[in-house]
Amino acid sequence: GLGYVNGKFVSLDELVIPIEERGHQFGDGVYEVIHCYNGKPFMLDEHIERLIRSCEAIKLPITQTFTDFQELILTGVENAQLDFGKVYLQITRGIAPRNHPFPNVPVSITMTLTESAPTPVEMREQGVSAITHEDERWAKCYIKSLNLLPNILAKQVAQDQGSFEAILVRDGSITEGTSSNVYIVKNGDIITTPLSNHILAGITRIAVKQAAKELDIPFVEKNYSPDELLQADEVFMSNTSIEILPIVTVDGQKIGNGVPGEITNKLYSQYQVYKQNQS
Ligand code: PMP
Repeated sequence: GLGYVNGKFVSLDELVIPIEERGHQFGDGVYEVIHCYNGKPFMLDEHIERLIRSCEAIKLPITQTFTDFQELILTGVENAQLDFGKVYLQITRGIAPRNHPFPNVPVSITMTLTESAPTPVEMREQGVSAITHEDERWAKCYIKSLNLLPNILAKQVAQDQGSFEAILVRDGSITEGTSSNVYIVKNGDIITTPLSNHILAGITRIAVKQAAKELDIPFVEKNYSPDELLQADEVFMSNTSIEILPIVTVDGQKIGNGVPGEITNKLYSQYQVYKQNQS
């Protein structure tokens, strides 16, 4: 893997961030995770667009343009000779003595470029289990903020129970997973939570929506309850790392027959086509 800090490529274990850095002290920043296939970042433009939206949402004074970010990421991928792996890009409100108001300093941009292993085939073929958990996050979940404490705490509850993901519930409706968007299939329709301030607009979700359109499967954006989740024919989740992954058990109850569903598998195949076409 390779690191990048404010204009310099560095090794991942180099000590580069001063103690008084606002990402470190306040979580005052935003990030993106982009997957590389065959040395090409997948859906790069969509990720950069979201990164810029996140910066605007927390008033980070970036001077970089869309093209600057494209160049930075493509240079990073090339320097790291990254073939199959992840680009993690983080922007914070910079380095300044610890004090809550915004400092008048440049933002800090850091990046890691690391090879990763593909999601194990057993997980894809057998599906994974999930739990439901209260959504304890703030009211601006559309921002890809560094503050992930509620996500991490809920994910750990899931892992401690031998589950892969925690599906979050706010006011009686499913919002999303701790690091994924969540979908159900009922009577042939794909149903997923509509975009709002309570969920992150997943980049993989854009591809899932496109795949549904091309496969002629209705894609319905509406709220659904934990009960509808348990009664679904299929459940699946999506994010940049795991792509599209079947969920076959929720809170210890089988979904459908407890095996990955047909529509989930079709969407996954279509996603593989998108990856191939882009890289
Ligand atoms: N929701 C949350 C809370 C996430 O952290 C993620 C992962 N970034 C997603 C949804 C899925 O987003 P994407 O498809 O862009 O990875």
